[in-house]
Amino acid sequence: MAYPKCEICGKESVGVCCSCMGAISHSYCEECLNEGREVWTTLIGGLYGLTKKTMHPDIQFVIDATCKFYNKTEDELWQEVEQLEKDYDDYMRREWERNQE
Ligand SMILES: [Zn+2]
Repeated sequence: MAYPKCEICGKESVGVCCSCMGAISHSYCEECLNEGREVWTTLIGGLYGLTKKTMHPDIQFVIDATCKFYNKTEDELWQEVEQLEKDYDDYMRREWERNQE
């Protein structure tokens, strides 16, 4: 039996562990763990509701390592966080309206 491949880069995994972004687990390889990389969607979700000013500063190394790996800028990351927040707000508004009928 083997753990699933690293969910970031696809290499052999060293195990499944909890993400530093919240209560979710992923399979990571040694390199991604050592670099501080995170699964892109988990990073986006973990930053939901936060801004560069309100996030915990100790997470900056995860942002840097993850953006570098996925070839994204930090601005692109925060734009995706804002888009997720907007999409969720729109979804909740539609659900609220649907329940008023
Ligand atoms: Zn990896």
